[in-house]
Amino acid sequence: MSTDKNQKIKIRGARVHNLKNVSLEIPKNKLVIFTGVSGSGKSSLAFDTIFVEGQRRYIESLSPYVRQFLGQSDRPDVDDIEGLSPAIAINQKAHGRNPRSIVATLTEVYDYLRVLYARIGKVYCPKCGGEIKKLSAQEIVDSITNKANKEKAGFVSIFSPVVRGRKGEYYQLLYDFLEKGYEKAKVDGKMHSLHNQINLAKTKKHDIEILIDKVDPKDISRLTEAVEDALNYSKGLLVAKFLTEEKLYSSKWSCPKDEFAFPEIEPRLFSFNSPHGACEACSGLGKKDIFTGKKCPECKGKRLKDEALAIKLSNKNIHDVISLNINDAYEFFVNLEDKLSKKEREVAKEPLREVISRLSFLLEVGLNYMTLNREASTLSGGEAQRIRLASQIGSKLAGTLYVLDEPTIGLHERDNERLINTLKELKKAGNTVLVVEHDERTIMESDHLVELGPGPGRHGGEVVVNDEIKKALKSKNSSTVDYLTGKKQIELPERRSKIHEQIKIIGAKTNNIKNINVNIPLKKLVCLTGVSGSGKSSLLYNVLHQNLANVNYKRREHGFQNVNKILGLEYLSRVIEINQSPIGRSPRSNPATYTGIWTPIRDFFAELEGAKERGYRAGRFSFNKPGGRCEACDGVGFNLVEMHFLPAVSVRCDVCHGKRFNRETMEIKHRGKNISDVLDMNVEEAYEFFKDIYTISDKLKVLKDVGLGYIKLGQPATTLSGGEAQRIKLAKELSKPFMKNAIYLLDEPSTGLHYKDIKMLLAVLQKIVEKGNTVIVIEHNMHIIKTADYVVDMGPDGGDKGGQVVAKGTPEEVAKNKKSYTGKYLRAYL
Ligand code: ADP
Ligand code: ADP
Ligand code: ZN
Repeated sequence: MSTDKNQKIKIRGARVHNLKNVSLEIPKNKLVIFTGVSGSGKSSLAFDTIFVEGQRRYIESLSPYVRQFLGQSDRPDVDDIEGLSPAIAINQKAHGRNPRSIVATLTEVYDYLRVLYARIGKVYCPKCGGEIKKLSAQEIVDSITNKANKEKAGFVSIFSPVVRGRKGEYYQLLYDFLEKGYEKAKVDGKMHSLHNQINLAKTKKHDIEILIDKVDPKDISRLTEAVEDALNYSKGLLVAKFLTEEKLYSSKWSCPKDEFAFPEIEPRLFSFNSPHGACEACSGLGKKDIFTGKKCPECKGKRLKDEALAIKLSNKNIHDVISLNINDAYEFFVNLEDKLSKKEREVAKEPLREVISRLSFLLEVGLNYMTLNREASTLSGGEAQRIRLASQIGSKLAGTLYVLDEPTIGLHERDNERLINTLKELKKAGNTVLVVEHDERTIMESDHLVELGPGPGRHGGEVVVNDEIKKALKSKNSSTVDYLTGKKQIELPERRSKIHEQIKIIGAKTNNIKNINVNIPLKKLVCLTGVSGSGKSSLLYNVLHQNLANVNYKRREHGFQNVNKILGLEYLSRVIEINQSPIGRSPRSNPATYTGIWTPIRDFFAELEGAKERGYRAGRFSFNKPGGRCEACDGVGFNLVEMHFLPAVSVRCDVCHGKRFNRETMEIKHRGKNISDVLDMNVEEAYEFFKDIYTISDKLKVLKDVGLGYIKLGQPATTLSGGEAQRIKLAKELSKPFMKNAIYLLDEPSTGLHYKDIKMLLAVLQKIVEKGNTVIVIEHNMHIIKTADYVVDMGPDGGDKGGQVVAKGTPEEVAKNKKSYTGKYLRAYL
């Protein structure tokens, strides 16, 4: 790898999405920020151009054999890119829904834990709980001599237990031992001569121990020979009869007391994804079934067999360890290292080092509160991204191009610092780090700033700033810089309003929240703050939403969940949750269908002269049912081509060329535009186009107001970000007749927003409040927090160290609170 500090990535003529044929150079081996208003083209440049081309070239460099498994991606619309490295994107796409995937498996911590437990775990009998030691033949010999010497007895008899509690007659077996020259056997507790006929009942369980030898314990070589033979015939067991007692020895993992025999102790024994380790009742799922989520009655949710759970390190089995949060797990293993014997340390060295280093990377990205057995499907986008980031630092790749999407989402300002250091470390390791980001701190600590703009959609797509950070901060034509330097600001409200009605949450109890009381003022903008893992989502969803949802259906009699009671519900008419989950999982859903704008648009086309003449009704203009759509692609615009053993590839429909409608339908036009053209317009263009048709333009206006002017009406739901999906849902709610006494719950609505967009969003939220509703938002963005009427700050820390209300009141009151991290950072914004 060349480490020439002056290397550059040179992009010429990029035209992806709204990019206006832009050319630019960005330095390599630096931390580079892409910023700009939402829809300006940051992702189009960073992800859809630079990353896609980097990845495509990387794939091309592989052998044709490997390539066929990776599929081929289209070349992005760009003339040329020079100086690209292999690229890795770390985005916020949620991890799959696989219920077997947990934080410990995602991060590979579990793989090394399995090796560690197999190598140095202490083995206990799952039946009697006694510790089990596996002895070598040599150790057994030593133990027998020691014991015999203590007893001062003459001889020791060595037996090989060849049958233990099994049914059968065993004639052949007994005969074989006689043939080998053995004379006596203990059968079901009684001594017999093998020369005599021994009659065993076929249907009864028997114990047979062959007498191997009667030895003088001082005769070490003869004793050794007897021990080895005995172990050999019985596959690892031996009974030594001393003067006063008998003792069972084992050269394998089985309990000498109750004969519980372990399977081979190897890493797979600890895997809940393998029949070797998985609880048989639930196949390692830990649940009775995925639908009810009820714990498996056999393993009690621990996913593993008793044998696996009986093996411990420092008194904790592997399930106990993954139930710890990352902070505590880190301490556990650092302490464990000190407790190991020299021999253990040697065999545990490598897996222990891997576990500790992975945990330390996870700590660096602010995931101290996260338990290792948290299911991947319950992770937020930000958490999932930070986990991926942590594993990249661990991989120690150099010469790579990393592209990240708002890594600070979901992080409190307190933890941003550590995250920024992680990004810097990734850079120092010899990588180029491109980050789409709005966070002030991250921008200020970067090396280089690229700003896209000036506006969203077709008003953007140009590079307005591209300079090293110090010079960029002096730029005159940047809208970001003005805010960064304080020249422009998001204003504070003129005065804080008084609290009247409130709801009172009494005895909330869920996840890390342990019996707390919280009051939430109504008809206000309320911010729920606190470091990651402090309990914000638990309070908002598990406590508030879960119980308030009953209000919608007037189902109070159902009683309360996760809380003793909530008072003041009589003030509320409805609860509206607006989260970041996709607005649809199929490419047929899009902003137009989801918000209901598509219906008046179809009606409008059906009313046009040409349509009436031909008898086309509104249904003709649907891409979801036959009639007017292209039938070659069922109105999707592309077809999925199934490939043998490979993921299906989507290919543009060669009949309609992606237009989704048939020719006759597209002949109906208004001011030169047909229904397919409308689907291809962004919100702002459509707003201009339908300005005088209020049934359509009113709804488009709301989309514009929440900062979505740049989004295409027909943009497939599957391509929208979490933040965009949330704002579309917000717009849909806002285009309904205004509610009163409703409560709106939002999760980090600032995701993906630039200062200018935040201003717009705040105006919308304040309007909801003015109409007599309550808005509760989880937020880390200080500009939103400072404008709230009321702040509830959770903490003090994450996980077990959180779950309390640390501070509450107006932003000024919270800022004065010495115990509140939020307060500490908020001061600078007031
Ligand atoms: P940013 O990252 O700055 O928010 P984007 O690069 O996502 O902006 O979007 C820039 C423009 O490109 C917007 O007008 C957006 O609607 C459009 N766009 C983004 N993704 C797609 C896509 N998959 N198909 C068509 N247009 C897109
Ligand atoms: P925040 O929203 O403040 O980041 P959360 O409410 O998500 O915090 O989490 C609070 C605590 O509860 C954390 O320790 C987290 O690991 C735990 N937690 C959250 N969701 C779940 C879940 N689905 N299962 C188990 N623990 C959870
Ligand atoms: Zn088609």
